[in-house]
Amino acid sequence: MRRVHVAVYPGTFDPLHLGHLDIIRRASQLVDRLIVGVAINVGKEPLFPLEERVRMVRGEIDALYAANAMNGIKVEVVPFENLLMHFAADQGADMVIRGLRAVTDFDYEFQMAQINRHLDRAVDTVYLPASAHWSFLSSSGVREVAAWGGAVDDWVPPHVAEALRERHDQIARTGH
Ligand code: ADP
Repeated sequence: MRRVHVAVYPGTFDPLHLGHLDIIRRASQLVDRLIVGVAINVGKEPLFPLEERVRMVRGEIDALYAANAMNGIKVEVVPFENLLMHFAADQGADMVIRGLRAVTDFDYEFQMAQINRHLDRAVDTVYLPASAHWSFLSSSGVREVAAWGGAVDDWVPPHVAEALRERHDQIARTGH
């Protein structure tokens, strides 16, 4: 019998953008079950709280399902606040999916893959190259442009663009 592949695609998704959605769509076609793991941001305060980032990703995945782009493939969105390899084990995953944009991503990603492999040999890291169309795109770039009132509508789904506008209005009003 063919082995069932379960993959975790982890990220902070602060906010979700079209490069992420492209990886989700492609990864979902490679595995039997895909878990999009939304991480707390340990390094610094995220622009959007964890629950809102989870809501954003879920909303877009539901939209993809509605458009029937993910025929029969199970994609779930699950928040996690622990070590990625522990989360992957809890989910019964045998793969971690990462997107690679450019050589600048490579050093960090290569190091993380080695560390993670050392932590759990049952889980391997699989990289998907960013689509040429989105290889320049990052959440930090989106946040930067949105913070100055620039249009990000070409890079994020409409609900996310709206959430960014509301969040920046709130920051302008309240200072945080
Ligand atoms: P970002 O790097 O955009 O701030 P994350 O930390 O949430 O976002 O990234 C989660 C995963 O998505 C990582 O594997 C990252 O390499 C990948 N990723 C980010 N942006 C892109 C993109 N434009 N195309 C493909 N993969 C991407």
